[in-house]
Order: sequence, then C-alpha cells, then structure tokens
Amino acid sequence: MMRIDILTLFPNMFSGVFSESILKKAQEKHAVSLNVINFREFADNKHKTVDDYPYGGGAGMVLKPQPIFDAVEHLTKNSADQPRIILLCPQGERYTQKKAEELAKEKHLIFICGHYEGYDERIREHLVTDEISIGDYVLTGGELGAMVIVDSVARLLPGVLGNEDSPVQDSYSCGLLEHPHYTRPADFRGMKVPEVLLSGNHQLIAEWREKESLRRTYLRRPDLLEQYPLTEKQKKWLQEFEKNKR
Ligand code: SAM
Repeated sequence: MMRIDILTLFPNMFSGVFSESILKKAQEKHAVSLNVINFREFADNKHKTVDDYPYGGGAGMVLKPQPIFDAVEHLTKNSADQPRIILLCPQGERYTQKKAEELAKEKHLIFICGHYEGYDERIREHLVTDEISIGDYVLTGGELGAMVIVDSVARLLPGVLGNEDSPVQDSYSCGLLEHPHYTRPADFRGMKVPEVLLSGNHQLIAEWREKESLRRTYLRRPDLLEQYPLTEKQKKWLQEFEKNKR
C-alpha cells in the first residue's frame, strides 16, 4: 500500500476531495493511505507560530524551517522506505502525466503545502527531493496542487481503476491525446455518431480511434508529436491533415 502524508495548515480542505469517488475507493481497497497533518502542531514556540517576517524586509510572511523540518523528521523516523518529499511550488518542475507515473511507483510520498509569500529557502535546499508546480499561475496555497497530484497518482495504483477505466488509453499516457467518445443515441437532434463506430468492426474502429487521436493531437497539442515515434501509417495521416488544412 502506498502511504501519502500531506503537511498543511488547512487540513479541512482535503476532507471532501479525499472522501469521494476514486480516492475514496482507493483507500477502501487499501491501495493508498492518505494522512493529512497540520504542521502547526510541530511548531516549538508557545504561540504555535509557523511563519515570520522576511529577512531584508519586503511584503508577505515566510514559512519557518523548524515546524516543517520537525514534521518531516517525525514522519520519516520509523519509515523503512526513502520517501519522496515534494514541495508544492510555482517555481518547481511543471507537473505531467509522466511525473504521475514516476510517483505512482513509490511507496511513500510526503507533500508540503506552502502558504503566504513562500518558504524559507533552507527547506527547498536541504529537505525536499522534488519541487512541483501544477501550472504557470500562482495559487494561494499548495493544497489544491497536492490534491491534483494525489488524485492523478492514486488512479494509477494497481487495482484502483477497473479494467474498463484503464488509464493506458488516457490522454498523455500513450503520448497522444485521447480520441473522441460518443454514446447513445446514434442521432441526437440531427447530430450523428460517426458510422464506423456503429459498424461492429473492431479493427476499423481501432483504426478510426488511432487516427482521430492523432488528428486531435495534431490540432490541439502539436508539441507532443515532436517526442512521439510515428509509424509510417501515422506519418501519412499527418500529411493528409496538413493538406486538408490548406
Ligand atoms: N511568492 C511565491 C512565488 O512567487 O513563487 C508564491 C507563493 S504562493 C502565494 C503560496 C503557496 O502556494 C506556494 O508556496 C505553493 O505551496 C503554492 N502554490 C502556488 N502556486 C502554485 C503552483 N502553480 N503549483 C504548486 N503550488 C503552488
């Protein structure tokens, strides 16, 4: 079972997200244990202060190193595995499906959710193994980022998704965006489902999906194709898309 510890000043933010849907199931199936810890409890001063003014002046408060170092040391004290210690941070490595797949192989993850102006730099330099940003924008705190990462990792753990929801075909997992989906009715207000999907011919359907997945990636995220090992057939399809554009 994967163990995930989350250090935050706002533990209540996690209760809804962690008690619904796939994350709820993942815990019930003992694929993951999710532990949310208020690192204020580790502050060694009378008033449980976790932040202080920045040296050199300037706006905003900075998270002190002591409560966060002590909290991480407490969580790793009896741990046989070397955990990944992840700092949520807009300056970190941009989060991707590839990183989710990498983290899903670990036994123990610890997330540190920042708030206020930021962290004392010594946390970044001497405590963490990874700094992750969930995108090029600034959030109020790291909690939403931690939820995003926990959700995307937990669904990859063995046994969490049923076969029918297999993550293998998901966008980004195979290097391309996923093909379009349709469900009943076959004709909705004159908007028709592509004929091939009603044909019952599995080979043709698979081919259509492969082509539409490529078309979608070409139109929406051509940058992904730079890394993708195209087959000869796919190269021909790309030429066709290019021609149709003109
Ligand atoms: N002053 C910081 C800077 O400019 O880099 C931003 C601090 S932000 C207001 C407070 C906290 O929110 C950060 O310490 C981090 O934990 C979290 N956060 C903000 N944006 C994030 C992002 N894009 N990805 C992950 N965490 C983020």
